[in-house]
Order: sequence, then C-alpha cells, then structure tokens
Amino acid sequence: PPRSTLFPYTTLFRSVITPNVYNFDLWKTSGHAAHYKENMFIFNVEGQEFGMKPMNCPGHCLMFGMRQRSYRELPWRVADFGVLHRNEMSGALTGLTRVRRFQQDDAHIFCKPDDVQQEIEDMLKFIDFVYGKFGLKYEMFLSTRPQKYIGEKATWDEAERQLAAALNNNGREWKENPEDGAFYGPKIDINVFDALGRKHQCATIQLDFQLPIRFGLKYNSAAGVDATETEERPIIIHRAILGSVERFTAILIEHLAGKWPFWLSPRQIAIVPVGADQFAYGAEVQAVMRNEGYHCDLDNSSKTLQKKIRDNQLAQYNYILVVGKEEVENKTVNVRTRDNQVHGAKTIPQMLTELKQIGRASCRERV
Ligand code: ZN
Repeated sequence: PPRSTLFPYTTLFRSVITPNVYNFDLWKTSGHAAHYKENMFIFNVEGQEFGMKPMNCPGHCLMFGMRQRSYRELPWRVADFGVLHRNEMSGALTGLTRVRRFQQDDAHIFCKPDDVQQEIEDMLKFIDFVYGKFGLKYEMFLSTRPQKYIGEKATWDEAERQLAAALNNNGREWKENPEDGAFYGPKIDINVFDALGRKHQCATIQLDFQLPIRFGLKYNSAAGVDATETEERPIIIHRAILGSVERFTAILIEHLAGKWPFWLSPRQIAIVPVGADQFAYGAEVQAVMRNEGYHCDLDNSSKTLQKKIRDNQLAQYNYILVVGKEEVENKTVNVRTRDNQVHGAKTIPQMLTELKQIGRASCRERV
C-alpha cells in the first residue's frame, strides 16, 4: 500500500484480528507452555486444554505459515490491537498500570535478514512521531547478545550491526547495554520520561530468531545465478510503541495532570446556557459541534451560572461556551477556557475554524 503523507509509517501495516483462545498445542509450539503457563488463563473444551492469548505473535506466525511465501512478500507487516489476558497475581494488580486484560498497539514484521536496518529506521521515525505528539522525551538502548543465546554468532553480529546503523541514522543519542539482549535476539529498549521526570518502559523493538524456527517459517529466496531458489528463514521483529494501551493511558493521565490537550480530550466542549430560556439554542450549538465530531456536552442543570462555569472548568472541559439572551440573538457563543480566561463572543463559524486549528496541535501545546 502507498505511504500516506499524514502517517507515513502506519500504512505499511495490515491490520489483522486474531482469535483470543487457542488449543494448547499452539502454546507448546510457541514455547509458552514451557515458560509462561502460570501467567496464562487456561480451561478445558471437550477434554482438551485451551489457553487465552497473552501475546499476539503465535497467531501471526500461524498466518504467515499458512502458505508458501516468496521473498517478494517481505517485509510482511501485521498490526493487531487484540485483547490479551495475563494471569497476574491479585496482589500485583494496580490501577491501569498492571491489569489482567489489556491491549497493545502490537505489530510483527516478518522480514529477510537484510531488511532489518530499513525496518528499524522506519520504526524509530514512527516512535519519534508518536511520542512527539504526546510531548514525551525518551532514551534508547541497544541490548546485545547475552552469554546464553541461540542461533549463529554471525547472524547476531549482522543484526546488531544493522540495529546500530539504524540508531545512528536516526540521529538521536543512544547507548549500548552489552549482553542484555534476550536469548533469542537483540533488542532496542526505549524509556519515556513523564512531566515529573519519572521513567517508564513503553516501546519495544525485539528481534526474534527463535519463533520462526519453532513455527518452521520459511520463504522462497530470489533465484540465484543457477536459477535455483532456496528456502530461507525469516526474522521476526516484535514491535509496540505505546506498549499496553491501558498503562500508556495511566502514564498520560499523570503526565498531563488530567488536563488533556484538545485533540485528545474526552471533554472538549461544555455548553452552558445562562437560563432555561437558552436550553434550546444550547442544544442547537451542541448538535453543530457533535456533527463536526467534537465531544460536546450541554449543561442544562439548574445550578447558578457561576457554579456551572466553575464545575465545568474543574471537570477539565477545554472550552466552555456560555449562551445567554444576547448570544441567542446574535447567533454567537461566549468563549471561556478551563484556565478561566474569557475569550469573548464568537460566531459559530469562527469557533469551528479555531477548533480545527487547535485540533492539529500536539500535547506540547496544552490547550
Ligand atoms: Zn510479539
């Protein structure tokens, strides 16, 4: 698919939906049965063991392995917002940061060994794009081959060389964590810092030489000089940017202190009629705003005007639009923001133009 100009990286992925539950045979193949079973929810169906997925990768391996694959199809990139379940100890559960049911902005890239650098370069740009939107600073580490590892040393060396080259081309500072990679592949660790300077691990970029072996994944290489094709083993790159969406939401709530920027706010606009006479006009304005796709509520409670304005500011509505007799007559709204600034009367078209402009801002501009 062509790269879009707005999100140059997302269009490279095909979005897929995979099952939540698999026969335990799959988890034996993936290695979860041996290493991860106590973290899984398991039950019996007609005398057979089934497990709820704690990760999306095995399902994607099944999809890749369904038929013969050619090198022309690679890199094969799948994204999955599938629901994951992990059986955390009840004592370990906390708010949104550690839950038993969550979703990741998960993706897997099945690629040739020499695709790695380009894929990682695209990924790093995508990460910068996403974290930039949220105004989050971050640091990056390359974790290399540990003492205990699987695969060929030459494969590791080449993959690490490509990861380092991608990091260098990205132009941001990075450090090496020697021998800190997983036994099945090197990785790039990324820590984000919230407004209070606290560190959180969100994004993951993990190369995997093991899973393609476990699932027997292959692709046909380009024909060589003697016109023979060979079957080659792809490399899998596991990749998430937000990580757990629930956990990322918790980080954002604290990072923004509950003051969501307009483009991300669940409470963008509150319409506050001065009295019952303006309820109808308030509803009219609300319909216009909702029609434009904004989250817009109408406060037709019987509280005093001052109390209504104050309550909606405390509820962190980005905009509070007061409508009284004058506004009804002039077809305008009287604009305030949650920081108690009065911006005065605006016509509906003026207001819509302003919202459209503000909607494009990132979290750096805390409107
Ligand atoms: Zn994965």
